[in-house]
Amino acid sequence: MDKATLRKQIRTLQKQQDAELLKTWSQSLFERIEQQEEFLKAQTVFLYYSMPGEVDTHAFIDKWYGKKNIVLPVVCGDYLELRVYKGKEQMAISSYGILEPQGEPFTAYDQIDFAVIPGLAFDREGNRLGRGKGYYDRTLPLLNCYKIGVCFQFQLVDSVPTEPFDFVLNAVCTEQGRYSNKA
Ligand code: ADP
Ligand code: MG
Repeated sequence: MDKATLRKQIRTLQKQQDAELLKTWSQSLFERIEQQEEFLKAQTVFLYYSMPGEVDTHAFIDKWYGKKNIVLPVVCGDYLELRVYKGKEQMAISSYGILEPQGEPFTAYDQIDFAVIPGLAFDREGNRLGRGKGYYDRTLPLLNCYKIGVCFQFQLVDSVPTEPFDFVLNAVCTEQGRYSNKA
């Protein structure tokens, strides 16, 4: 199957989901992540500010804000700029209609200890399918830390089609389990 076909399939499934159920699943998923040693030890965590339909990060960010340094991505042209999360009040709506932190770019990539990466689909080997812009494929090689993909179980597939530039994650977590890339 090619990437475009898989994206379409997953988007169809996404439309059939109940928003309340997605919130419950997101909570279960982050309960798993919170038990991970790599997360507990981390001081600076790269997260994302979820949009409807994605694994919901808002409650998790609220919970850990103040205890860990939280860095979020902001789309800037062809690249993701990273910015430090400074509370809900500091979030503003971008030209893309999504909430993003204001302020200076965060460039100390080597300070990031743990990264949580969204995706449209993942497989158990840590391969990721995004929305088709390759943003994370360009950013993730700059991070020297443990990187975990997050999605709902219905987005976990047997095999994600990949190309040489696709970045492979250390593990994938859903509301039902965590799958480590043993390679
Ligand atoms: P996604 O990862 O969002 O699913 P793709 O993997 O299909 O999207 O990548 C989309 C496009 O991004 C690719 O066609 C490629 O041209 C570009 N791209 C991906 N990785 C890189 C990279 N490391 N450097 C430059 N361009 C890249
Ligand atoms: Mg890719």
